[in-house]
Amino acid sequence: MLVEEKVQNAWKQRPFIISGPCSAETEEQVMQTAIQLKNTGKVHALRAGIWKPRTRPGSFEGVGTKGLPWLQQARKETGLPLAVEVATAKQVEDALHFGIDILWIGARTTVNPFSVQEVADALRGCKVPVLIKNPINPDLELWVGAVERVAKAGIEQIGLIHRGFSNYGNTDFRNAPMWHLAIEMKRRHADKPMICDPSHICGRRDILQDVAQKSIDLDFDGLIIESHIDPDNAWSDAKQQITPTVLASMIDALQWRSETSNQAEFLNALSKLREQINHIDDELLQLLGQRMKIAEQIGNYKKENNITILQTNRWNEILQKAVSKGEKLNLTKEFITRYFDAVHMESINRQNKVMNNQL
Ligand code: PEP
Ligand code: MN
Repeated sequence: MLVEEKVQNAWKQRPFIISGPCSAETEEQVMQTAIQLKNTGKVHALRAGIWKPRTRPGSFEGVGTKGLPWLQQARKETGLPLAVEVATAKQVEDALHFGIDILWIGARTTVNPFSVQEVADALRGCKVPVLIKNPINPDLELWVGAVERVAKAGIEQIGLIHRGFSNYGNTDFRNAPMWHLAIEMKRRHADKPMICDPSHICGRRDILQDVAQKSIDLDFDGLIIESHIDPDNAWSDAKQQITPTVLASMIDALQWRSETSNQAEFLNALSKLREQINHIDDELLQLLGQRMKIAEQIGNYKKENNITILQTNRWNEILQKAVSKGEKLNLTKEFITRYFDAVHMESINRQNKVMNNQL
């Protein structure tokens, strides 16, 4: 089968599974990982970072162009189509020169319209499929903008990758999934495959399975998961990579929802919608928990400065803003008022406890 045909087949696979190392490190590592992935029989394309955009200098920044022939060799041996991240016009040029089959735009690039435009301009006239990761920050419009720029350059096969959003402070995740944003993006781009990247959401191995399952439950079209022959000694993202064998058992353990007709179809649709609601409710609870912690901090300041808990003007201002924002979102004034009153009461109770030394 021609590589071109393989790529088209891979793109159509549901679930579409992409795996491979965070970074190409050595020829041997790329080849061994590719062979082991191929032998699982569960992977449709091989990923490897060649140029690594690092948040801070001094970390491994990728082997660069010299790794592209290693990937070609791995494809020759395994038949797996190749996927590589590109962030500049030169990288697009080099990747295409070496026949990379699928390109992706990383989170640190999507965030910058100048960079996205540079990549899009370099792609003009090409047929290569392009996957676009969400931007680092939770800004849906930047993600949409990147899709529009690439589409305007004439790229027809565009897919989306949800890799989570950076957030300040400690959470369970390296990048908070904020599922509601991915769900909204999926809704707006129902024609494009949406793939989940549990590796960069989790940043650790122990919760990969859970996040992958959540994405499947939310009807994502596939997964991109980092794998390495020796994860602990990987040159980048060591904590989140898994061996191809572990990857295979992870994929086996995932519960795929069956696609059937008539009543089953209805039940399936219903349970998917309920899943979405459950995830949003989970997030609302998390956010409420965070909100109450902040209220406690405020309570501490008020205590130190001998200020009253209730400041009517401030509260009226919050409520008025919420009601007018709510109206735009089709939420009734009555609902918003009841909801905010409940939140406010809880917040006052917390502050009360802080101020009277009951916490
Ligand atoms: C990667 O996929 O290796 C990567 C750099 O991811 P992200 O752009 O999501 O940080
Ligand atoms: Mn990585």
